Amino acid sequence: MRMPLYIMIFASFLFLPPSAVSGGDRYEKERLRMVEKDIKARGISDKRVLSVMAKVPRHLFVDKRYRSQAYADHPLPIDEGQTISQPYIVALMTELLRLKPTDRVLEIGTGSGYQAAVLAGIVKEVYTIEIREGLAGKARGLLEKLGYKNIKVKHADGYFGWKEHAPFDAIIVTAAANHIPPPLVKQLREGGRLVIPLGSTVFYQMLTVVTKKRGRIVAEQISPVAFVPMVGEITKRKD
Ligand code: SAH
Repeated sequence: MRMPLYIMIFASFLFLPPSAVSGGDRYEKERLRMVEKDIKARGISDKRVLSVMAKVPRHLFVDKRYRSQAYADHPLPIDEGQTISQPYIVALMTELLRLKPTDRVLEIGTGSGYQAAVLAGIVKEVYTIEIREGLAGKARGLLEKLGYKNIKVKHADGYFGWKEHAPFDAIIVTAAANHIPPPLVKQLREGGRLVIPLGSTVFYQMLTVVTKKRGRIVAEQISPVAFVPMVGEITKRKD
């Protein structure tokens, strides 16, 4: 039986990955407002960061009921009591990494997968680790559906990094830590940058950039932030 042409055309839209229609979706206006008013106006100037954040469909990374707030200037809840960071903080952390298109980046704390998608629009390869299995699976599914081929999601404790793919040009930790996990410093290439919310996991942290220079680390404090705590191995150690 042959399908009428109008049904075929309609059906083909249904199967189009959302990434193929992003840029033209109904949230585009809000997304561009977010980039101009909440990100650029506050001093983020890295063209690659601004351009990718104008494209990634953030509304698809939040639950349907929060979709109307997806481009607002605050974090939002995702599953399992976790959060997707405020857009400005995603932009700031990404800019602080000083990424190049050829870079390989490690993220600890996949969450919704949004930060990974932003990174993947700038660099060659993104490796992201999530300790909560449900979140890891959901993010992996969404990123695949959106057509990202350069992101690998792993369900594990990010404290130990991802040795097989080390060294990384940059590492981003998106959960609060009271110390820098030593395996991450080890897996950072010489001259590489690591961004991490460092301090109390209960109150607030200091967004910190760590640069590895001749095997030693140099830390620079940027601004106070509040992230959900890193869990797992980190809670058992005091280094
Ligand atoms: N980057 C995410 C938001 C991160 S929220 C986004 O773009 O949506 C912090 C995430 O870190 C949570 O999903 C939490 O489960 C995860 N997490 C906490 N401790 C972790 C650990 N030891 N290893 C990997 N992920 C961890």
